[in-house]
Amino acid sequence: MIALLLALQIGTAAAPIPTFIVVRDGGAATSVPVTISGGEPSVRADVLLKAMHGMLITGTNLHYTLVLSRARLDLIDGIPFAKLDTMTVPLTRAPQVRGGQLYLPFQFVTEVIPRYGGYVYDVAQAELRTSASRVDAPAPARAPANSTAVASATGTSRAPATSATAPVPATPARTPVPVRRLPRKLVVIDAGHGGPDTGMRGPIGSPIWFVEKDVTLSVSTKLGTVLRARGFDVLMTRTTDTLIALSDRGRIANANHGDVFISIHCNAPGYNTAAGARERGFETYFLAEAKTEDERRVQDMENESVKFETGANAPKGDPLSFIITDMAQNEHLRESSDLAETIQTGLIDVHPGPNRGVQQANFAVLRGSYMPAVLVEIGFGSNQSEATYLTDQSNQRALARNIAESVVSYLAHYESRVGGQR
Ligand SMILES: [Zn+2]
Repeated sequence: MIALLLALQIGTAAAPIPTFIVVRDGGAATSVPVTISGGEPSVRADVLLKAMHGMLITGTNLHYTLVLSRARLDLIDGIPFAKLDTMTVPLTRAPQVRGGQLYLPFQFVTEVIPRYGGYVYDVAQAELRTSASRVDAPAPARAPANSTAVASATGTSRAPATSATAPVPATPARTPVPVRRLPRKLVVIDAGHGGPDTGMRGPIGSPIWFVEKDVTLSVSTKLGTVLRARGFDVLMTRTTDTLIALSDRGRIANANHGDVFISIHCNAPGYNTAAGARERGFETYFLAEAKTEDERRVQDMENESVKFETGANAPKGDPLSFIITDMAQNEHLRESSDLAETIQTGLIDVHPGPNRGVQQANFAVLRGSYMPAVLVEIGFGSNQSEATYLTDQSNQRALARNIAESVVSYLAHYESRVGGQR
């Protein structure tokens, strides 16, 4: 009742807001309730997507992806922008999670989906339909009030409906392309730091003899050798002691259409104390907002390299551009986290240090790479025994072989999962 009153009040300002809309997709017609919250109409994303035979993907860190047969839209809870490929679509209001469900502003029904999803919104009929829809297909009975429609939609949304969960092809059927050999997979290997940016130096409590940039280059080179021997193409972001801007590392990977991006680094604690000197172990990061104090420390340390960069290479501080880049990377978040898990688990077999687990942080170096991307902290150069371990050539080869095997098995698994399509 209250909802109906609100709907009527809004209706006086512009076109009336219906209590529900009908989505007509091919021969099927489904009703989707319109809910009013804070005086603003919205629709539940999962219910709408199901009616459109699309899919709602829930990512990490409040990220969502709406998968329609003709478009993919990336969203962040509370951010009034959507991202479509490289395009940013401003929204009148931000999508919002309420009661564990993502709600889309009504603008999605009237504008966003019609414009980008290949639908037409008929205001008079409160109907969202594909241009190919048969208009004579029977519409579901008009519900008299919001409550009925909400109940039916809630009921169906709980059922494990195949239509809503089945993958939808990203593009419509095309004419078959002549068969050609699949290109070899390209692994981009990024040796952390370089040139004036030495990275961390150690160990703590002794004259400095461990320099991160040298160890990362040595391990990265060995990793490249193993992967080439296993039949992969390898691209090194640097092969000598040079400074490569963080943003360029990702750009190099993108320009060459890398399949996987691996950045190799060595760790150090945030404090030069006896306790800090005892820190040991290995951890693998994938890109996301840093969550813990420790993750934030490593993030800040690795992002420090930016201060060695100047001019055009320096990342811009524009928060919007950050969000957009972040969203472009989000597509690969799940894959990046899988790759991180595979590498981290593999290292348990060879590394003497404790397993510090898979972590997430917002690394500038990972941010610019639009492919599954991870950063491996192969150990603490600040710890005397681990620094000794990391500088030993045969240990470096063992680490390289181990990481390479993880990449091979990750790519094989990924290949089988997507049926060889890229
Ligand atoms: Zn580093």
